Amino acid sequence: MSKVLYEKDIQKEVLQSKKIAVVGYGSQGHAHALNLRESGYDVVIGLRPGKSQQKAEDDGFAVKPVAEAVSESDVVMVLLPDERQTTVYEESIKPNLKAGNAIAFAHGFNIHFSQIVPPSDVDVFMVAPKAPGHLVRRTYEEGGGVPSLYAVFQDVTGNAKEIALAYSQGIGSARAGVLETSFQEETETDLFGEQAVLCGGLTSLVKAGFETLTDAGYQPEVAYFECLHEMKLIVDLMYEGGIENVRYSISDTAQWGDFVSGKRVINDETKERMKEILSEVQSGEFAKGWILENQANRPQFNAINTRENNHQIEHVGRELRELMPFVKQPLQAKQKNEQ
Ligand code: NAD
Ligand code: MG
Ligand code: MG
Ligand code: MG
Ligand code: MG
Ligand code: MG
Repeated sequence: MSKVLYEKDIQKEVLQSKKIAVVGYGSQGHAHALNLRESGYDVVIGLRPGKSQQKAEDDGFAVKPVAEAVSESDVVMVLLPDERQTTVYEESIKPNLKAGNAIAFAHGFNIHFSQIVPPSDVDVFMVAPKAPGHLVRRTYEEGGGVPSLYAVFQDVTGNAKEIALAYSQGIGSARAGVLETSFQEETETDLFGEQAVLCGGLTSLVKAGFETLTDAGYQPEVAYFECLHEMKLIVDLMYEGGIENVRYSISDTAQWGDFVSGKRVINDETKERMKEILSEVQSGEFAKGWILENQANRPQFNAINTRENNHQIEHVGRELRELMPFVKQPLQAKQKNEQ
């Protein structure tokens, strides 16, 4: 087993004397900044003017232009959208990094695929929480934390690992477990996981089930409850106690159906496709496509997004959730920051 680190394994002093610039105040940015501050660290926010700036100021932070925040800090955590990091890095971060500073990321994409090449006289590390930013914040407030992976890409001070660990502690991850990885492993597994399982796999599974039922003439409302709404209950059980906890809780009929039918939906053919996806992630083919899509101003991304938001499952879902006030408003409506 890999060694998972907790509070007792981490020295905080190495980061306590330093100033941390959190660049970006979106999903991850607000969570890192608030958690770090409450853990006793010194934080300044680097942003351009806009909605996020107002939010960070309302939360009591000093908010400065990125260049200024970087020049007055020792550790710079880059929490901008991955596809914008290169530009902001070249314009505002790189010119203001000093020898012995550290630059950090929450995802390895730009370092691993060489979109950002840091100078050779700074530490480069990653702390990647394995959860959406809003959970990074919520679990911390509740006294818990989300697990994080950390990695060191470049260690010039001899302290890069200790700084990364203290940072992980500051955002609450040492309460849940901190595990060492490499930029390569984090980037490849993160991209694979979100494409094949967590995001692409899941949304496609839900939609395929919904369409199968509605095509067969069943009511869309019934199909929505069955294929989407109930998913949360199952996932909560899995999160709390693994797959065996799901099977403990469901009826034996459901469990028998799981055993005989699950592997007919997700089968050897599906695994072949997963291997293809993984090899496209490893070869850089996926990264290239996404970088070019952004350079072209996202024509495909936008077209697909519009079509997806018009899928029948979304229309039915919006109506049904109106009638279920206990189901929280979608995060995107309530908390999505300016992009
Ligand atoms: P986000 O889109 O939620 O927030 C981005 C922030 O950057 C916003 O505050 C925005 O105002 C600001 N910003 C955008 N362009 C800017 C510019 N030109 N200059 C200054 N500020 C600018 O981003 P996010 O989802 O928090 O992602 C940040 C990083 O965290 C990424 O590397 C991502 O891969 C990683 N990450 C995200 C999650 C997640 O849950 N969202 C999970 C793990 C890792
Ligand atoms: Mg996002
Ligand atoms: Mg991820
Ligand atoms: Mg990701
Ligand atoms: Mg059922
Ligand atoms: Mg059972």
